Amino acid sequence: MCAKRDRCMNKYVISVDMGGTNIRVGVVDGIGQVKHKQSILTQADLGKESVVERLIQLIQGVYNNIARQHKVIGLSLAVPGPYDVNSGVFYNPPNLPGWDKFYFRDKLERHLRVPIYIINDANAAALGEYIYGAGKEFRHLVYLTLGTGVGSGTIIDGQLLMGSRGFAPEFGHMTIDKNGPICNCGNIGCLEALSSGTAISRIAREEIKNGADSILSKMCSGEIIDIDAKMVAKAAASGDSLALSIMKEAGSNLGVALVNIIHSFDPEIIVLGGGLTESLDIMMPSIKAEISNRVMINQKNKVELAVSQIEEDVALLGAASIFFEPRKNEKQS
Ligand code: ADP
Ligand code: ZN
Ligand code: MG
Repeated sequence: MCAKRDRCMNKYVISVDMGGTNIRVGVVDGIGQVKHKQSILTQADLGKESVVERLIQLIQGVYNNIARQHKVIGLSLAVPGPYDVNSGVFYNPPNLPGWDKFYFRDKLERHLRVPIYIINDANAAALGEYIYGAGKEFRHLVYLTLGTGVGSGTIIDGQLLMGSRGFAPEFGHMTIDKNGPICNCGNIGCLEALSSGTAISRIAREEIKNGADSILSKMCSGEIIDIDAKMVAKAAASGDSLALSIMKEAGSNLGVALVNIIHSFDPEIIVLGGGLTESLDIMMPSIKAEISNRVMINQKNKVELAVSQIEEDVALLGAASIFFEPRKNEKQS
């Protein structure tokens, strides 16, 4: 929320949430309302030049639409990492193939005449939760998004933890099992390789390929490649024992990660977002069991676990908040 309400009245930020699949744009005001929402498909396979061209067109369209009545004070973009906030360059982003070492910020600045701020999408979401969502009442928050991968952001004493180049934190690439499966990042046994949507579908596909007995074989009509985490969750909800054990194991690995996070950051609340939270009830007992068994006694039952309620706009809001929060995102009462 804008610290000085008067100062932020009638000021607007064009905010973009750029994903590997969709690019969403909205116009955000100082009290967290999102208007003029639009989206286009990213179509990353068409190449970065095409994506950027369509992105600029989209932003210019929104700008031309509102600039006569409203004062646009900036453009914020939430982007998939790894993205270096100092140099404005991507480093091999798994969801944007071919964007390695791409000077993204320079490219936008050449075409758009507004102040631009670009931030990692999970960091933007953490800010959004902190200012407008489940974290409103707290000053120490960890946010995890459990989707295709596992993204994360952390607010410590009201400040977004960025690290030296904006890469922090990468909880998705925290090692949980040093002998575990290979992760997209090239490492072994990362949380993302064990508890993401992609991990759950990979594990289920392997089991079915190896002849495991499960309703999943029928659900996918023999097309093993069609098994996704949503299908596994549905099978688990119907009592399928293979699917249940896969979901439980994913929950248990997530629980281990959460204990490491609690011990490292002593947060008041951990907010979970992303597609997997639709089926969090199936994983929750194993998440909680792991936390309860492993957490140090001083932290027992101290950290709230919440599910995001503002998922759709959270990154747009969080990224835009940078322009409305004069004192480095310090929350005002
Ligand atoms: P991203 O933002 O990374 O594209 P999402 O947050 O939309 O991803 O989450 C997508 C993942 O969530 C997929 O792996 C999908 O299978 C899984 N998913 C979607 N709906 C459900 C559900 N109801 N239960 C469990 N997993 C789900
Ligand atoms: Zn990894
Ligand atoms: Mg997402």
